[in-house]
Amino acid sequence: MQESKFPHMRARADVARHRVRSRLAGRARLVVPATVLAVGAGLAGISAAAGDSPTQTPVVAAVAADQQARSEAAQRADRAERAAAEATPATPAQPAPAKAAPKAAAPAAPAAPKATTAAPKKAAPAWVSPMPGAMTTSCFGQRWGVLHAGVDLAAASGTPIHAVGAGTVAAAGWAYSGYGISVVIDHGNGYLTHYAHQSKLAVKVGQRVKVGQVIGYEGSTGDSTGPHLHFEVHKGALWNQINPAPWMKARGIAVSC
Ligand SMILES: [Zn+2]
Repeated sequence: MQESKFPHMRARADVARHRVRSRLAGRARLVVPATVLAVGAGLAGISAAAGDSPTQTPVVAAVAADQQARSEAAQRADRAERAAAEATPATPAQPAPAKAAPKAAAPAAPAAPKATTAAPKKAAPAWVSPMPGAMTTSCFGQRWGVLHAGVDLAAASGTPIHAVGAGTVAAAGWAYSGYGISVVIDHGNGYLTHYAHQSKLAVKVGQRVKVGQVIGYEGSTGDSTGPHLHFEVHKGALWNQINPAPWMKARGIAVSC
C-alpha cells in the first residue's frame, strides 16, 4: 500500500516524527547523532503507515469496506444477469447478439496513484485476447441499475484463458466474493487484469506470466449465469475498473462492445 494514497497517514507520520524530536530534545540536551534521529523518525513513520496504531483502524476498515462494496456490486451485476436469463425462456444455445449495453462514457475515474509494483518494460508490450474466438456476451456499463464492471466472453466450458499481457499473478483462487475462482495479473504498467468464474487455475500468486500464457480454464464458479469469462481491467489500483473495450481495442484485441 502506498503511503501517498493516504495523505492523512503521512500527516500522522509527520506528527509522530515531531513527537520523537521533541521527546529527544527534552531529554537533558543529549547530543543525539542525526542518524539515530533519522532511524527513530523512520520507525515512527513505518509504524504509523502500517496502521498498527488503534487510531488507524477506521481508515483500514473504510478501505476494506470500499473494496467489499465494489465486489458486491459486481456480484449483484451477475446475479441480475442470471435473473434476467432465467426469466427469459430463450434457447440457451442461441448465439444471441451481444446485448447493446449503453455505450455511455465510462464514469470519470478518480485520479488514483499509479501502480508501481514492477518497472516499466523497455520492449514494446504485446497483447492478446484472453479467450480467442469467444463470443462477447455482455459489455461494461450499467445493467439493471448496477455497474457491470467488465466484459463477458463466452466459449465452451473448459476453454483455456490466456494472460492478455505479461505480468505477475497478484491473486489466484477464490479471492473475491462473487468472482469464483479468479486470477488478477499486474502488468506493471499501471494496469491490472482480472479473469473471473474459472473452473480451474493454471497459475499461482507471485508467478511471472508471459503474454498469452494459459492462466486457467473457463467455468462458472462464483456468481455466474453459465460458463463464461468475466474480464476486467483495473487502472492504477485494484478495483478501479475501467471499460475494457477501448483498452482492448487499443491493444489490437477484438471485442464486440
Ligand atoms: Zn460479467
